[in-house]
Amino acid sequence: MKKTKPSSVVIVGSVALDSIQTPVESHTDMLGGSASYASVAASFFAPVKMVGVVGADFPKTCVQLFRKRGIDLAGLQIAEGKTFRWAGVYEWDYNTRRTLSTDLNVFEQFNPTLPADYCDAPFVMLGNIHPALQHCVLDQVRKPKFILCDTMNLWIETAKPELLRLLKRVDALCLNDSEARELTGLTSLVKAGRAILKLGPRYVVIKKGEHGALLFSNGDFFSAPAYPLEDIHDPTGAGDCFAGALIGHVAKGGAVTIAALRRAIIYGSVVASYNVECFSLKRLETLTSRDISRRYAEFIRLSRFHAP
Ligand code: AMP
Repeated sequence: MKKTKPSSVVIVGSVALDSIQTPVESHTDMLGGSASYASVAASFFAPVKMVGVVGADFPKTCVQLFRKRGIDLAGLQIAEGKTFRWAGVYEWDYNTRRTLSTDLNVFEQFNPTLPADYCDAPFVMLGNIHPALQHCVLDQVRKPKFILCDTMNLWIETAKPELLRLLKRVDALCLNDSEARELTGLTSLVKAGRAILKLGPRYVVIKKGEHGALLFSNGDFFSAPAYPLEDIHDPTGAGDCFAGALIGHVAKGGAVTIAALRRAIIYGSVVASYNVECFSLKRLETLTSRDISRRYAEFIRLSRFHAP
């Protein structure tokens, strides 16, 4: 059978230096940001074109990691000033996270400009950044086949009108359970998922952290199990890896179908499950396609059951 060439994915989001504290460890100024995690995760499946901004202080080793993963960096601006910095602390359950500080730095003046060859990319991921910047990217792309949007509670609270306008322009929204509840005011995730479909997107993916994910569309509902994690060191970026691997895997096959999305959600969970095993993007640096295939197979084995 002839293999189809994977379509390219444009990914916009934050590129950050994160300082993270967990109950047992803390690390300062490590590579982070929604675009970093999502781009590296997607690069295991499809060619990635990154859009973002960093300051002059951005470490060369981080650029090297992106290059090693074959990521196109023509859309990564280097601005005068400091790279965006974010600091957070996790509680003992590794689920509850508090933001300690957000220093926008070069992000404050960021104006995403897509290089000409990015504008025809068939797959676009709007990683977590201000919805106004996500709109700005959509204004530049020409008829992509599939647009996936991520967001966070901050934008639901501070930029809801822009976010609601954005939902009418995207094919899929990926958000976590608390964000889905906050966006809709509904406690039931099933009701919240259906309510978000009415706001515009054809697909809604609700991530439930260590409890899996739900996929909603008009006519289909999929409840994906979670991969049982043994070794959590840093949950930062799990959501971005999930979304990046998801769109990367759909782009690899090229067809946007329910079956493709269901499979891609499991690949998203697999890459996210690896990412949390080390701080920052350290685990993704050594991850191989073989590791991904092995855990995907294990995932199927763990969640399969036979109807009587
Ligand atoms: P996640 O754990 O998937 O929610 O994503 C964590 C990443 O989001 C971190 O690496 C941060 O650098 C990044 N981040 C945190 N706050 C913001 C923000 N306001 N805008 C964009 N990215 C952010």
